Amino acid sequence: MRYAFGIDVGTTGIKAAIVDSDGKAIAYENAEQKQYFPRPGWCEQDPDEILRLCLDIYSRLLEKTGLKPKNISCIGLDHQGESCLVWDKKTGRPVYPVITWQDRRMAAVSDEFGKQYGDRIRTLTGLRSDSYYSAWKIRWILDNIPDGQKRAESGELLAGTLNTWLFWNFSGRKAFVTDESSSDVMMLCDPRQACWNDWLLEKMNIPKVMLPKIVPCNDILCITDEEVFGADIPVTCSLADCSAGIVASGAVMEGDLMVTYGTGNFLHLITGNRFIVPTGGLTSACSFAMKERKAYQLNGICYTAGSAVKWLKNGLGLIESASETQALAESVKDSAGVYYVPAMNGIATPYWDQSARGAFIGLTAASTKAHLVRAVLESCALQVANCSNIMRKVSGTDISRINAMGGMTVNGFLMQLQADLCGMEVSLPAQTEPCYGAACMALSGIGTDFRIEDLKAINPPIRTYYPSMKEEERNRRIGNWLKAVERTLDWHPQE
Ligand code: ADP
Repeated sequence: MRYAFGIDVGTTGIKAAIVDSDGKAIAYENAEQKQYFPRPGWCEQDPDEILRLCLDIYSRLLEKTGLKPKNISCIGLDHQGESCLVWDKKTGRPVYPVITWQDRRMAAVSDEFGKQYGDRIRTLTGLRSDSYYSAWKIRWILDNIPDGQKRAESGELLAGTLNTWLFWNFSGRKAFVTDESSSDVMMLCDPRQACWNDWLLEKMNIPKVMLPKIVPCNDILCITDEEVFGADIPVTCSLADCSAGIVASGAVMEGDLMVTYGTGNFLHLITGNRFIVPTGGLTSACSFAMKERKAYQLNGICYTAGSAVKWLKNGLGLIESASETQALAESVKDSAGVYYVPAMNGIATPYWDQSARGAFIGLTAASTKAHLVRAVLESCALQVANCSNIMRKVSGTDISRINAMGGMTVNGFLMQLQADLCGMEVSLPAQTEPCYGAACMALSGIGTDFRIEDLKAINPPIRTYYPSMKEEERNRRIGNWLKAVERTLDWHPQE
């Protein structure tokens, strides 16, 4: 039996697994890491702490399983995407902490840039111009450390997302590399060519010499230094965390749609080997690029979902726990014409209107608490149905099923309604841990006959909901809800 060590360097914590070459996770370990908020809107992490925790978890997993470093055939790593740092090539020391994806310090500058170049960025990279992406964080660092630009241009500084920082250290400062799903989120790359784009580099004034080499996600990214890992182990997977979750769930074929039902709803549709220039308020990205095949994805974002359920509890005091919502919703035959628009912080896909605000509409004297609660749950399913319709149109892809993950999937009412409103099956995958996905892809990169395409069969869904609503009814409900949404847009009340 061969074993892979998979590690997920997430936003608030690190989780790792040992997975055997049959695709069975034999042990997990995790650790919390700190986030620092030096100013409002800023968010930083300590790169040394992240490295230390990764190595610590590795030792703990070896101890737990009784395996030795020489028993580990490969390593897979996934990370929190856009978060990045800059370090000194000679000393190996970071010149500034990690600036994380949530950090908004460059928001005003990136919005201004977006007004001028938003369209070109969308067609070139598939992204929206947003301070979220790494390019803006690198820009800020170069502008705020002594001689930053000069040192970068002379080749003294290196920049990368967390995978690149970790591989550099895992390999004893030999490997300076990233993968195609990670390079994509830096907003400096053309995902069709998998190379740094000269126009973007020039506009951001970031010298190419400070950026890592881009390779496929299941290539040999580096070989670990024996002093660091106790053996020379090939790292054969690197992914952004969203892609690792997709791989873990087995939703890796064209037409697979993964939807997260957590604080918000996030949709990722695999569009096969086609990069689609996004319209309809979607974004595009490389989902994963293996040596043997490449998969792109279309993304949709709905800011508010589970957070509206939390608001029913904490803000309105209508319920005592989120789990009550199912029984309450099922206690009435419908929402009695009440619709809820989950625009508590504005609306993302497809409108991208930050001024929109939440609303209940269609209220009458007969509306009850149960109708309101039901309308809130329905709004989550409605916004996902609307986004998936847009994805179908924009991609021309026949969506086969929804793979649902996240805290709200325990709500059977919501999941059944989702199947009905989308007219397709909704499955809850048995596996969604990104570290498991990273370990599995790593196994596929070392010449085992392990294929990520087999994961659906290895971990069959724990539950599937089948659609039963008539198309006419589906269209009526979505149409009414969209009318409600329109009334909340462009909301600029006088102060
Ligand atoms: P995140 O990862 O974004 O923090 P989770 O995937 O952990 O979110 O999901 C938590 C969300 O799910 C919370 O916002 C909560 O309100 C919602 N939630 C939890 N249980 C239920 C339930 N039974 N019905 C509806 N919503 C639920």
